[in-house]
Amino acid sequence: MADNDLMSKLMSLCKRRGFIFQSSEIYGGIGGFWDYGPLGVELKRNLKDAWWRDMVSGHDDTTTPQGAPSTYEMVGLDCSIIMHPQVWKVSGHYDLFHDMLVDCRTCKARFRADHLKSGECPKKPSKRPGEHTECDLTDPREFNLMFKTHVGALFDLASEAFLRPETAQGIFVNFKNVLDTSRVKLPFGIAQIGKSFRNEITPRYYTFRSREFEQMEIEFFCRPDESRHWYTYWRDRRFAWYTSLGLKSEKLRLRDHDAAELSHYSCGTADVEYAFPFLQEGDFGELEGVAHRGDFDLRSHMEGKLVRSGDGFAVELDAEGKPRHPGSGKDLRYFDDQTRERFVPHVIEPSAGADRGTLAFLCEAYTEDQAPDEKGQPQERVVMKFHPRLAPIKAAVFPLVKRDGMPDIGQDIYRELKRRWNVAYDEGGSIGRRYRRQDESGTPFCITVDSQTLADQTVTVRDRDTLEQVRVAMKELSSFLSEKLETP
Ligand code: ATP
Repeated sequence: MADNDLMSKLMSLCKRRGFIFQSSEIYGGIGGFWDYGPLGVELKRNLKDAWWRDMVSGHDDTTTPQGAPSTYEMVGLDCSIIMHPQVWKVSGHYDLFHDMLVDCRTCKARFRADHLKSGECPKKPSKRPGEHTECDLTDPREFNLMFKTHVGALFDLASEAFLRPETAQGIFVNFKNVLDTSRVKLPFGIAQIGKSFRNEITPRYYTFRSREFEQMEIEFFCRPDESRHWYTYWRDRRFAWYTSLGLKSEKLRLRDHDAAELSHYSCGTADVEYAFPFLQEGDFGELEGVAHRGDFDLRSHMEGKLVRSGDGFAVELDAEGKPRHPGSGKDLRYFDDQTRERFVPHVIEPSAGADRGTLAFLCEAYTEDQAPDEKGQPQERVVMKFHPRLAPIKAAVFPLVKRDGMPDIGQDIYRELKRRWNVAYDEGGSIGRRYRRQDESGTPFCITVDSQTLADQTVTVRDRDTLEQVRVAMKELSSFLSEKLETP
């Protein structure tokens, strides 16, 4: 059974505290689009920053994060959302990027044909679509997922363009630019974070399947004879990254695709998956795919759209024997000045969704436990146990009462800490209520200025998870927090 109770409690907390709102809510919303509120934007930004820091800017070409000698470099890129339409014809998205969809004539629900085995019949959620006696499913039908638009004043075929359905192609078409300008040598990776758009047939499960979402993608280029090694490296490294930020191993799994499931280009793919509460027990949802793409993408952009041919791929030809979707004709091979070889590098692609990651960390953080109230009596509380790197607010400062100079001291502490972290100041309501607000926001530390502060310049610091309270000298607060928040 899906844990719908947990999901509805989490969704109501997200609304109440300002993590996630329905897009255009005052007009009734629009299916598959979501907005991040003041706390949500911080959480998602922290996730993207952690990814960029751990994969790109924090990586150097001398050591890996584990301290071992490293042999590769990482650089970043930020490409436009609308690209030359030929990009999508050559990449295969124009022809192939469609889902097969199935409608139920009885209840009008719509399902992806490949999700029928894991879906729920809306009339009887314990049954799969098609299993209920009243189900009347259509045959699978094609549905193109790319959003179409027009560039320029004329709305004709020549002005047709698409919102990108993935960020990866921007990296491939800039491969030569990066190679020529940044002096990187194989193996190296190019990373990008950005919005992607897919007109999903059945947007659902909150932000999990949206029509507008953000991806965090790496294209890692290497020698063909080293590609197996790098595939395994990225598959394991990306799995470890999620656990390092707090996803528990029993809810997370790394699943290798079997041959039938592999994309048309892939010689190996593994998904990082999370047991989201909205799924049936035992089911997992994809957070990230790590794919061995061979030389498929760079070759396509050189030669034209490729199709399977024997054991490999060949340019797809039209009736006149010309490439159906011609490539750029540019030479995207790499020249190895050591071996004097010229070849098309192989690619390993770890492709993650920032929204699905954010949702997994929200689900994982949601905890119900007890905390003592002002009189020391146990009270039910909801607390979001985010990893300190992800927590939207790192600390909150409270004056115990609004007199005796406590608000002024609290404001001074707040301004000082604000220079380094996202910190909140709250003087409204009882101290217990203020704790509850910060617990629901997932703030790791609450700092209270009280009468003892006036005497000895110490404050109380309360730990969100252990509820332990310690006294810390005001002048030590910054180093106290930095040790707690920044030590991995
Ligand atoms: P699915 O099978 O769930 O549709 P996919 O295999 O098509 O996903 P990819 O094309 O591999 O997904 O995209 C890489 C990542 O982008 C996914 O692992 C996911 O985190 C994210 N992603 C893809 N589609 C969506 C979506 N509709 N909403 C939110 N995130 C998405």
